Amino acid sequence: MNVLVINCGSSSLKYQLIDSESEAVLAKGLCERIGIDGRLVYQKAGLDKEITETDMPTHKQAIQLVIDALINPTTGAIKSLEEIDAVGHRVVHGGEKFASSVVLTDEVLKAIEECNDLAPLHNPANLIGINACKELMPNVPMVGVFDTAFHQTMPEKAYLYGLPYEYYEKYKVRRYGFHGTSHSFVSKETANFLNMDLNNSKIIVAHLGNGASISAVLNGECVDTSMGLTPLEGLVMGTRSGDLDPAIIEFIANKENLSISEVLNVLNKKSGMTGLQKGGSSDFRDVQDEIKKGNKLAVYAMDVFCYRVAKYIGSYVAAMNGVDAIAFTAGIGENVAMVRRKVCEYLGYLGISIDEETNLKTFGDEVVLSTPDSKVKVAVVPTNEELAIARETVALV
Ligand code: AMP
Repeated sequence: MNVLVINCGSSSLKYQLIDSESEAVLAKGLCERIGIDGRLVYQKAGLDKEITETDMPTHKQAIQLVIDALINPTTGAIKSLEEIDAVGHRVVHGGEKFASSVVLTDEVLKAIEECNDLAPLHNPANLIGINACKELMPNVPMVGVFDTAFHQTMPEKAYLYGLPYEYYEKYKVRRYGFHGTSHSFVSKETANFLNMDLNNSKIIVAHLGNGASISAVLNGECVDTSMGLTPLEGLVMGTRSGDLDPAIIEFIANKENLSISEVLNVLNKKSGMTGLQKGGSSDFRDVQDEIKKGNKLAVYAMDVFCYRVAKYIGSYVAAMNGVDAIAFTAGIGENVAMVRRKVCEYLGYLGISIDEETNLKTFGDEVVLSTPDSKVKVAVVPTNEELAIARETVALV
């Protein structure tokens, strides 16, 4: 079965065509600058990337261009539209309505729309992508896979904030968590890879990418996660601050003469690794280069990042009353040995030790880092959100 996986943003759209039996990616790419001018990137497996500058005023036209590329007689991955058996859509926010993936019926689309005010930048764009696909492929089943769904198993004590309860009742203000597709996929892969029984396990997943979050997964179910009502809470990220004293918002607003939304823009886009380095790069390749050059702010930023990760891991060990395995994943977790080493150094009290030689050699592979005598297994387990969406889609259709 061939599944087209779509991740639709407001002006861009990523896609992969996956053969669900072999789990091979047949073709992948993205549409950029939708509604501005337009650029299509298409890559059939085994061939070079093709980049075409072409008008794409709407998402529907962008998806039509993707379909045309997929069925192109010379470079296409399939012969006709009939070979797309299902479409899996990433949907950012499912609120409390969706605890698992769903087939996208009209009723479901209405319920997703009702979650729009929880993710005003993302959900409307996801819906535009879904509707465009429905128009172009009316007979193909569509599935929605939510970033928030995996975290819906959190208990009240983890998802309620210490705020007036009415805000939860009236506005559903609570912790939702994000990257759920990745946390779900990686926790399962970790149990498989380490020969553990997922239903009897305590796993901490550190999804460290440009956006970063951690989750505590007890017996296969999420019991806590670091992102909150929005993806701003938790770890220090590429450009997001993560946790801070909420009183800072008013303090900075007064000092810098900014509105609340302007301060939030600073917290989302100009903070984290970028902000700590006074507008420096959020990319850890650059941060490591700056550290080598002796840049003091890059050293601080790296230390703040790793310390926060270690603190969250410690708190999730408490939440689960123990831990069997810690998995590092996403761009930084899979590729940055310095982060993994620094984080694990804080965790010696748990009897954790990792093999530094293996750690230094590990880039994006599934690898055990812990030494045989380590009391907790530590591994790098690459995430694959597209494959996770394809698997969910197949399971439902
Ligand atoms: P993600 O959001 O999971 O795609 O992760 C993207 C981030 O991972 C980038 O901003 C970099 O900070 C980091 N990253 C990706 N690849 C590497 C690498 N080879 N070396 C160091 N950092 C990397």
